[in-house]
Amino acid sequence: MTPGEKLKSQLTDLSVNLWWAWNPHIIKLFRDLDPEGFRAANHNPVSVLSGFGPDRFESLGQDAGLRARVDSAYRELREYLSATRTWASLNAGPLRVRPVAYFSAEFGIHESLPIYSGGLGVLAGDHLKSASDLGLPLVAVGLFYRESYFRQHIGRDGWQHAEYVRSPAELLPAQPAVDPSGKRIIIEVPLSRETLRAQVWEIAVGRNRLLLLDTDVEGNSEENRQLAARLYFGDQRIRIRQELLLGVGGVRALRAAGVHWGGLHLNEGHSAFATLEYARLLMELTGADFRTCAQEVAQNTVFTTHTPVDAGHDRFPPELVDDHLEPLRRSLGLSQPEFLGLGRIRPEDNREALCMTVLAFKMSRYANGVSALHGRITRKSWQVLWPHHREDEVPVGHITNGVHVRTWLAPAMQDLYSKHLGADWRDHLADPHMWARIDGVPDAELWSTHRGLKAALVKFVRRRVSEQRRRNDYPDEFVRAAETALDPEALTIGFARRFATYKRANLIFSDIQRLTRLLTDSKRPVQLVFSGKAHPADRPGQEILRQVHESAIVGDLKMNVLFIEDYDINVGRHLVQSVDVWLNNPRRPQEASGTSGQKVLLNGGLNFSVLDGWWAEAYDGLNGFAIGDGITHVNVEEQDRRDAQSLYETLENRIIPLYYDRDDDGVPRGWVERMKRTIRTLGWRFNTDRMVIDYTNSCYLPAAGAESCRMP
Ligand SMILES: *Cc1c(COP(=O)(O)O)cnc(C)c1O
Repeated sequence: MTPGEKLKSQLTDLSVNLWWAWNPHIIKLFRDLDPEGFRAANHNPVSVLSGFGPDRFESLGQDAGLRARVDSAYRELREYLSATRTWASLNAGPLRVRPVAYFSAEFGIHESLPIYSGGLGVLAGDHLKSASDLGLPLVAVGLFYRESYFRQHIGRDGWQHAEYVRSPAELLPAQPAVDPSGKRIIIEVPLSRETLRAQVWEIAVGRNRLLLLDTDVEGNSEENRQLAARLYFGDQRIRIRQELLLGVGGVRALRAAGVHWGGLHLNEGHSAFATLEYARLLMELTGADFRTCAQEVAQNTVFTTHTPVDAGHDRFPPELVDDHLEPLRRSLGLSQPEFLGLGRIRPEDNREALCMTVLAFKMSRYANGVSALHGRITRKSWQVLWPHHREDEVPVGHITNGVHVRTWLAPAMQDLYSKHLGADWRDHLADPHMWARIDGVPDAELWSTHRGLKAALVKFVRRRVSEQRRRNDYPDEFVRAAETALDPEALTIGFARRFATYKRANLIFSDIQRLTRLLTDSKRPVQLVFSGKAHPADRPGQEILRQVHESAIVGDLKMNVLFIEDYDINVGRHLVQSVDVWLNNPRRPQEASGTSGQKVLLNGGLNFSVLDGWWAEAYDGLNGFAIGDGITHVNVEEQDRRDAQSLYETLENRIIPLYYDRDDDGVPRGWVERMKRTIRTLGWRFNTDRMVIDYTNSCYLPAAGAESCRMP
């Protein structure tokens, strides 16, 4: 092999395992090959490499420094993949032969694989990464959205425009999935009047893999070819078909791939049909009746519910269910009312829709919410399903969400941790003693690392905002203003997430005069950076976005408020790694967990949040800042007014003074103390290693003991 050929082969191997997505030094290696091309390709290494001919590899192969870096990266991947002593090898024995089958409608692993819309998908991605790091065998199942989630542009009128871009499969790190005999897998899902077909793609995610179903295949009607083109798009007819594909098709894909699972994990109710296909399979294999098999399925199934917002629970009218699920119903030997009853609170109510959350609760023995507060709210909201239980006895627990540390922690902070928390700190993420070592980091060193990250954020924001202004033909001076926007020393507050109305992105603008006075103080300036997408069908969400965006282009605040278009994992990463303060003000108790603030805390940013979701159990009075007192008012306007009041008071009297209180060396000692307290008290709890360990101990291992696991 020539040096160029060897380089090509090693880089290709590295590019097709998403392990690189949580190893910033490997991403940097790809970026260094062709910085401009990497950015143009949405940071997709496969796509960058596809543009290189043999000559290019040969000339790169002449660079001994590069060859050494690639060699070392390649060796690191091999060692990672072949490690035998992992957390799971010692603690999760039974799952070694029977992996967890993890179903989710979205996966947010990296910006170059845009099959996610927000927190749910990013959580699923982080779950896969930690499962891999811990050595926990898991096979994930999702849909291959060829047009992905949308790209966002904001017009000069402030309204969001959605653009769908088709991602060619050959430019993604995906291979066709094959059955044990090496044949390409095509699965079929019988609907009432036709058969839906899908091919299956396989993506390596560290030690595990993700299977994605793709309906754009021959044999499908034109409509069905487009079925899985877009995420969370279209009417209920499309939704039920997508969910059938995910659940029923997903189980079929696992079987075809020869996977014998040790349990199903339904990440949200979208995939609940999987349990029915599983029951059908058990009936076929054992000859037992539906009731018996359904019980066995439940013993083997874990369900995580993710939202207290009613619209977040899919409900399908009986006719639509009949229209699509008749073949499945018949093969389960169920009458129409019996079948629909599985997804009804009152099975005998003929008008009640089939609710995917109800179905998931009934078909799983292990159910949980995603924070302590959300667990309580869930027990209360769904108590109707357990009429003989008191509210606190409803069998739904909670496992609080976390984030994947290596994905979200800035490289400069990783270096700092390696220096002070022990060289192997990455192997002890769920251990409070490891995180307590943050106290030994000199204040000035932590502060200067943080300042460096903020300087990088300023560069990023200037580039993005000037690009978007240029694209919108704003006057030259307004484009140039973006090139010098933001003061790297000023208190910087970030807000970025989906613009669902309950998240109240416009809350901080409710008293413009007061906000203007606070932000434009020449001695103690404050700047806000916003980013986020509203769902294309959510007009009220788009209206909130328009209002926030307007503050960034007209009026007295336009130098202090910046809006970055086209929010994605990349924009999110830049923000969470470098802001001073992360603002989160949902209408309590609608934020089941929230995770973006957890990404911030790892990096030393301080949370400034309503006591909702994870923050309700994380805040101790000194490890960040609270908005409100955790009391919910029955009147929404009154609640909004009180929260805004609390927000302004805390910002004015506590946050701004603490940030600008400096010692002789310019270090804000009190602030840095809070940064350290945040990292020490919260780092070990709100990461996905801790979360996946909790799932394993309290759900996966008990589920793997179920009878059905002896299924052939
Ligand atoms: C972490 C993350 C979220 C979740 O944000 P919340 O504030 O928890 O809603 C959403 N989108 C992206 C791209 C993220 O990385």
